Amino acid sequence: MSAVSNPKRTPLFRLITIASSAMGSFILGLWGLRFGFGDGLAGMSAGTMAGIIAALCALSAGGAAMSFFAGIDESAEYVFKETHFDKMTGLLTRQAIVGKVAAAAAETLETGEPIYLIDIDIDRFKQINDAIGYSHGDELIRAFTKRLKESMPEDAVIGRLGAGEFAVLLPDREIRGYLERFLETFINRMMEPYQLQTHLQSVSMSVGIVAMPKDGVDPVLILRRSNLALQNARASGIGNWSVFHADMGRVADHRQWIESELKTAFDRGDFSLHYQPQFDLQGGRVVGYEALIRWKHPERGMIPPMEFIPIAEETGMINPIGEWVLRKACSDAQYLPEDCFVAVNISPVQFMTRDFVGIVRQTMASTGIKPSRLELEVTETAMMQDRDRAAVILRQLAEMGISVAVDDFGTGYSNLSYLIDFSFGKLKIDRSFVSRIDTDSSSGAVVSTIVGLSRALGVGIIAEGVETENQATLLRAAGCEVVQGYLFGRPAPLEIELGALRPVHARREPARLVSLQ
Ligand code: C2E
Ligand code: CA
Ligand code: CA
Repeated sequence: MSAVSNPKRTPLFRLITIASSAMGSFILGLWGLRFGFGDGLAGMSAGTMAGIIAALCALSAGGAAMSFFAGIDESAEYVFKETHFDKMTGLLTRQAIVGKVAAAAAETLETGEPIYLIDIDIDRFKQINDAIGYSHGDELIRAFTKRLKESMPEDAVIGRLGAGEFAVLLPDREIRGYLERFLETFINRMMEPYQLQTHLQSVSMSVGIVAMPKDGVDPVLILRRSNLALQNARASGIGNWSVFHADMGRVADHRQWIESELKTAFDRGDFSLHYQPQFDLQGGRVVGYEALIRWKHPERGMIPPMEFIPIAEETGMINPIGEWVLRKACSDAQYLPEDCFVAVNISPVQFMTRDFVGIVRQTMASTGIKPSRLELEVTETAMMQDRDRAAVILRQLAEMGISVAVDDFGTGYSNLSYLIDFSFGKLKIDRSFVSRIDTDSSSGAVVSTIVGLSRALGVGIIAEGVETENQATLLRAAGCEVVQGYLFGRPAPLEIELGALRPVHARREPARLVSLQ
């Protein structure tokens, strides 16, 4: 980087400063001679001596002034580097990006060519960092940066806004009008797994875009709006992107409200569990219950899990909430029929927590649940974050006798090779295939293929989101005997029925269970 120049300190300014220091020293020297040494010393005339001393003073003052300014230059350069360049990646810092956005805003106003600010965030980077350790976290950031630079045109301006958050300023001409195609290719490339020293790390990311001058030209507003677009993209799933629009402010307020309210809600005991039956068509009976969390806010009423779980995952609140769900479900199992298991959803963040297996072990010990009565529902995404670690965790759970169901199966990764490395007990066919099975033949084909796959792997199979008789019949024909959905019972709370000793659960009825709490 070239030396930084302060516009106030032009060469002329420096010359005047040095000359005035020298002049000051000269006068000081003369004054010293006149009043300090009298009329002469060692045979030298006072005039000669005054000249020599004044020259020496001027020299040293000049030297001092120069080194002073050189020092300032060095400090200024140091401060500039510290504040403008991110140490780990060498990318621009947030502060520097604000400056670049301001410059780009001026440019776009002059030329009329749109300039985009692209906000890129690695989903749940904090949790990944905690799980793999900081040095691997840094390694991941460096690898991500390298690929980011390679994926962007030469004159893109790239910065790092936060731990796992990056920003790119890109003029429209670089995208050549195909923003959508550009972003799809970019996101796919960035989400390919990263080879770290110890393992292959998968990441998902979310991207938000604002266009200047359309969405504004104020740098702070532009950065806020790109982040709103990013939050919006994140809320709509993995590897998504979203372009800013005016409604996003309201969504952001709601998100912020949830974030600030979660901890209070947890401490206040707003959460409860509902249970949805899983029905074996062949045996004609309920075989298990999936525990689904419910948040009833005292003023705002029911808040759906899809609204607050992703936020709890980002803020880390999912850990205490998830532990509570596990403990409550294991303890509620005593009120379920003995031949039924309880299925608990495990968030990817929880699954990757350092001592996840320890927490499960400890919960089982404290609640006394038999391992055969506990099933954990884990998504493919959770398993793919760090395959090696996931394989170890799954093996440990299998050794403890706990079954794991791969939730939302078919929606995550197309590469199925991981299935061979992982120990799990069941595939859970995603609702999106079930809901279209009677209208779309390719969904039927997917379901049959998944059933075939489960047989080849020797694992169980269940379909979720079954709402009609027709869907149930087609699933059965495809070889899927265990089903879950509104047709067989909606999620419902455990009900206390004083005097009743056995739980009542009939087909199409929510489970009504005896609780002695
Ligand atoms: P999921 O694990 O896929 O759960 C199934 C969701 O589908 C539930 O939504 C359930 O109420 C709904 N559902 C069940 N049968 C039908 C049906 O026939 N038709 C339709 N349209 N929907 C059906 P819910 O309870 O709103 O939960 C949504 C998601 O939130 C869950 O999806 C799960 O990912 C997450 N979640 C819920 N409870 C927990 C929890 O305790 N921990 C964690 N980590 N995530 C949870
Ligand atoms: Ca589930
Ligand atoms: Ca599911």
